[in-house]
Amino acid sequence: MTRLRVLRFLLLLCFTLTLNAQRRSEPGLTVTPALVEPGSPELIELSAPVATKVEGEWLGHKLQFFQRRNTWVALSGVDVETKPQKSILHITAQGAAGPLEFSRTIEIHPPHYRTGKLTVAPKFVEPGPEEQKEIAAGSEIKSRIFAVSAPEPLWQGSFRAPVKFPPTDSFGTRRMFNGKLASIHKGMDFHAPSGTVVRASNSGVVVLARHLYFEGNCVIIDHGLGLYTLSMHFSRIDVQEGQHVSAGDRLGLSGATGRVTGPHLHWAVRWENAYLDPAKLLRLNLASIR
Ligand SMILES: [Zn+2]
Repeated sequence: MTRLRVLRFLLLLCFTLTLNAQRRSEPGLTVTPALVEPGSPELIELSAPVATKVEGEWLGHKLQFFQRRNTWVALSGVDVETKPQKSILHITAQGAAGPLEFSRTIEIHPPHYRTGKLTVAPKFVEPGPEEQKEIAAGSEIKSRIFAVSAPEPLWQGSFRAPVKFPPTDSFGTRRMFNGKLASIHKGMDFHAPSGTVVRASNSGVVVLARHLYFEGNCVIIDHGLGLYTLSMHFSRIDVQEGQHVSAGDRLGLSGATGRVTGPHLHWAVRWENAYLDPAKLLRLNLASIR
């Protein structure tokens, strides 16, 4: 070995050891599911037994962690409209020895969503002045609701499907309404016949239970820390705003109110202002978390 080669080898060894030392000082961090796509809910778990507080920032969202034994947990997600990219997750863990800050690069992979065409009544594509007033009132109510979420998680265990009918894989589909208005389908449709009992997918507080223009008869549940589930197009609502519900509680009956092509249940998951794939939330095992 030449002297240069020995020097190169020593430098590489030195670099590797330093990198390992840095990794060792970093608390264990896991992101589930590991394949991150636009629309993925993401469970972030940080093993930091001595931390007194953990905060995070990802894709412009503040992450709110809660403690479960030695682990700090945040239920977050990537909005369906986020572009594929390499994103940076920043975490600050406060401890007796001062704050420990570190970052992790998380790749957001390209999604595989379809394009579809739909025909609905013309008033839903080109609403008149009266209808626009109703739409604006609905938007105001929703922004008021989404601005204040419970300061702690209200959910218990894994989320469950709101009806016993098989879902369609329509989340994320790019849609053309009457060949004109393009939109992204931000929920999951269940082909439930009118009158099907719709149940709470997890515990929380009913923050909206009323008729809205596009959503029809709509029920929104706050599950805490910015996480909501939305159920739409009910023929009848059986809960009241402010009511606490547990998983499996009856919310109402499915129907065909609002902007629909026929009876079905539209079920959506929202975290902060991001819309997430309900199918992925249902697959997330939260039983050991809370
Ligand atoms: Zn839908």
